[in-house]
Amino acid sequence: MMTVYPDTAYPDLALLIDGEWRRTAASLPVLNPSDGSTLGALPVAGAGEIAAAIAAAERGFTLWRSTPPAERARILLRAAALLRERADAIAHASTLEQGKPLAQSLPEVLRAAGLFEWDANEALRLYGRVVPAEPGMRHLVLREPVGIVAAFSPWNFPVSSPARKIAGALAAGCAIILKPSEETPAGSIQMAQALIDAGLPAGVLNLLYGEPARISEALIAHPSVRMVHFTGSVPVGKHLAALAGAHMKPAVMELGGHAPVIVCASSDAQALGAGAAVMKTRNAGQICISPTRWIVHDSLYEAFVAAAAERAASLRMGSGLDPATEIGPLANARRVDAVDALVADARACGARILAGGERPVGKGCFYPVTVIADIPRDARVLHEEPFGPLVLIQRFSDLDEAIAMANSLPFGLAAYAFTDSAAEADRLIDGIECGNLSINHYVASLPETPFGGVKDSGYGREGAIEGLQAYTVVKNVSFKAR
Ligand code: NAD
Repeated sequence: MMTVYPDTAYPDLALLIDGEWRRTAASLPVLNPSDGSTLGALPVAGAGEIAAAIAAAERGFTLWRSTPPAERARILLRAAALLRERADAIAHASTLEQGKPLAQSLPEVLRAAGLFEWDANEALRLYGRVVPAEPGMRHLVLREPVGIVAAFSPWNFPVSSPARKIAGALAAGCAIILKPSEETPAGSIQMAQALIDAGLPAGVLNLLYGEPARISEALIAHPSVRMVHFTGSVPVGKHLAALAGAHMKPAVMELGGHAPVIVCASSDAQALGAGAAVMKTRNAGQICISPTRWIVHDSLYEAFVAAAAERAASLRMGSGLDPATEIGPLANARRVDAVDALVADARACGARILAGGERPVGKGCFYPVTVIADIPRDARVLHEEPFGPLVLIQRFSDLDEAIAMANSLPFGLAAYAFTDSAAEADRLIDGIECGNLSINHYVASLPETPFGGVKDSGYGREGAIEGLQAYTVVKNVSFKAR
């Protein structure tokens, strides 16, 4: 019997295959990034478990695609209600394994429930169309579920990222085999339990953990798997997109970013500077849409830099379970090394480090919010995604120059801008190369709006009708009466 949701216990870890929770002889440890302690042992799928998951998904898909959409929606809505009921316990497990403060984990669980609700309701409106035809002829454009989806979710949003993939696939009538991150497995297990408790038939959702390359190669090559859905880094995304292409499978790739924030002269330097430091406490900057390069008008630059540095220095770092904590640990030791190396390079290039910039001594994967200004253009941090709590500040004098700076990288996921001028907003809307532009606020993604990137940040969209339609294929039927 699994223990997946009561109180504050970290859940039992298992694979889910054909509606059964399975353990294997081999396992991986799951670590708490705030103190390095071991939270649990994660079973590892071998060839047998991968084959069993595919066979289960084949049966699950046959059943699920012929389940009435209204019944599919009812199950998803029941699961969403269970996620809301169990939100405290799920958030607690998420904070233990991922590090973000509880005040961030809880809204993530509620967001996941919201994604289930939106997809469940929208599934009832996955309309096709009837094309006008000559008498006696009917042209019907039908949307069918694409089939079995192989999905891969990362460690930065262990609840909402799997939720996007599961909710979209199931709402569209697909079966899904999900490989969440091995470093943060609990959220997917707790979500799968909610779906089982809500009545999801066996085989429709399967969870595999193990060696990522082994699982992705086996799934993507299998003829029964018809679609690939990945959120993660650009290099892994390009590798999986190439595999998907080799096997002629459609793919949605939600990859990295290096989001610019253009701060025009009409802005409040004090509020936005302090706000920049606070924005980097969100998941300690480990978000693909995290605002990262503040490109600030000359007239505000020094005030903005001073406000960011002052607020960053006051932020309280600690365990995500402590209600006073404003920034938790990074998710793993790899990130601390990567962020620290970028800071060291910027320092060596001559950038000004105004707050943070030193790896703290002691246990845990901590790194403070670090404010860096006057950054030479060739510093690595201006080109590589920091995926950590770095506030990078550059200056501009002319809006075209700022737009060119924003567009200068191969990434194009989120971008932000602050201006009181409608004319400037108009130029920004036309000029910025990205998938999600937010003007005068920092919200880049809602269940009802499409989310995804351009350039190296990927292709395809999650969320909204675009995200749901991605799990479908179009069949045109021409029917002649005789
Ligand atoms: P990584 O490139 O090793 O792994 C990224 C993710 O891909 C992990 O979840 C991993 O389990 C998975 N993965 C790796 N190889 C795979 C394979 N062959 N098949 C299937 N899945 C595979 O990097 P990392 O150290 O875990 O993360 C660091 C970088 O990842 C960050 O710098 C950031 O750019 C990126 N990232 C992006 C997002 C996002 O939301 N777009 C989320 C997490 C990480």
